[in-house]
Amino acid sequence: SVYTPAPNRYAPDSPVQYRRTGTSGLKLPSVSLGLWHNFGDNTPYETMTSLIFTAFDHGITHFDLANNYGPEPGSAEKNFGLILKKSLTAHRDELIISTKAGYEMWAGPYGDGGSRKYLLSSLDQSLTRLGLEYVDIFYHHRMDPETPLEETMGALAHAVTSGKALYVGLSNYDGPTLEKATALLDELHVPFIINQNRYNIFDRTIEKNGLKDTAKKLGKGIITFSPLDQGQLTNRYLDGIPADSRAAHDPRFLKASDLTATRIQQIRALNDLALQRGQSLAEMALAWILQDSAITSVLIGASKPAQILDNIRALENTEFCTEELEKINAIAES
Ligand code: NDP
Repeated sequence: SVYTPAPNRYAPDSPVQYRRTGTSGLKLPSVSLGLWHNFGDNTPYETMTSLIFTAFDHGITHFDLANNYGPEPGSAEKNFGLILKKSLTAHRDELIISTKAGYEMWAGPYGDGGSRKYLLSSLDQSLTRLGLEYVDIFYHHRMDPETPLEETMGALAHAVTSGKALYVGLSNYDGPTLEKATALLDELHVPFIINQNRYNIFDRTIEKNGLKDTAKKLGKGIITFSPLDQGQLTNRYLDGIPADSRAAHDPRFLKASDLTATRIQQIRALNDLALQRGQSLAEMALAWILQDSAITSVLIGASKPAQILDNIRALENTEFCTEELEKINAIAES
């Protein structure tokens, strides 16, 4: 059957709002969808389409990928490319599609890191899998201290001048490296607009490594990944580990052993606080990130369309009183 997107997807009263990415001209939805999990070859095609269509029907215009998302590595781009071709070709100009290179992708010395050789050949491979002529944002996926920053930034510049990326981004950088990279990219007149970093109630790394303050100072956007700490900051694990949860069926990154007694206690305490605010824990966890307007978007994952519908409601209440914020910090540190 032919997919027709919901006609009211950009209604002004939609729970998804668009935020400017730093000082750039590009706006992103407050909630974006990532394809790290649930878009590999072990997920039914119908599940993937229901997630993408639910997102787009509700105004989520941004979909985030990387060369290695799967399993198998590359399959998320290939599967998303199929969905694009079959159902979204007419809407390409309404979509912000990002991909990345920086983690190990293929064997040998040229399939990992930050070399010009790796980044540019990986981008070509990603475009082939996606069936696209360009991506909207191309990221270097992680810092590579062994490659001169000039070389990596030069590769990002070439991605733009060759017409294969409209904007570039940096992922998993820290404040000082972001500052150096920005100087190089400015010199090359590259539209570098966004940082992608892990950030949630439990993980405050970017508050400590200078990334958050430096990005604000430089007028760069921040999109935060794993804002729900892979599902821990939801009602998923309140009463054990459900068989269909990530911790049970895909323990590559989130393991059942991560859900210690202390962690469950923290989750329950946060859940109580969320209920007092009239929110689900997922909504509160995302609202806690989005209360800062310097954060452009929260980059969620989802295994079910209902999770997307829950998560987009986060903006309904992003006001936190001092007492609530202190309570959240105390629970996170407990
Ligand atoms: P989240 O922290 O949002 O975790 C998503 C998971 O949480 C879902 O798959 C689902 O798990 C569960 N969940 C989501 N919403 C709800 C809800 N409302 N109620 C209950 N459970 C819910 O993000 P991810 O860790 O998936 O990361 C998101 C994206 O960030 C990735 O897809 C990727 O694009 C990007 N990313 C980038 C990285 C980088 O290095 N740049 C690294 C990691 C991620 P379940 O399966 O249990 O239902």
